[in-house]
Amino acid sequence: MEQRRCAGCHKLFHPRPQSPDQKFCSAAECQRERKRRWQKARRAADADYRDNDVQANRQWRSRHPGYWRAYRRKHPQYVITNRHRQHERDRAAQRIVPPAAPRPDLANEDVSEAFMPLEAGTYRMIPVTGGDLANEYAWMVKIAVLSGG
Ligand SMILES: [Zn+2]
Repeated sequence: MEQRRCAGCHKLFHPRPQSPDQKFCSAAECQRERKRRWQKARRAADADYRDNDVQANRQWRSRHPGYWRAYRRKHPQYVITNRHRQHERDRAAQRIVPPAAPRPDLANEDVSEAFMPLEAGTYRMIPVTGGDLANEYAWMVKIAVLSGG
């Protein structure tokens, strides 16, 4: 019988005959991870799905006012971890949009020059629009430097 390594827990498992492409074992935690990844990919690829998800979350929050406040009070470690992740997102965002304003003499030039130096690499991109940052989407973008100087 074929054995495979689970994409979640990395333990060996026997794929079900009716699921020849099975990548996750049947453990509840691994099935949750599989669903989480599927939803993340779907949100990234499907604008309608994403909008619908945002709308559904917004409706859920309005039906459950105070839920997240109570959750944060009961889970102080979540608050610390979330704060740390937000700090990371803020720092990543600053690498894309530097705090310094472009100089006036650059006003009519290509604004991308004012943003240099920007190193090639993978960046996390989050919108700078207002609102609840915890519920905003973030994208991973790979930036390559095509020309310098
Ligand atoms: Zn597993």
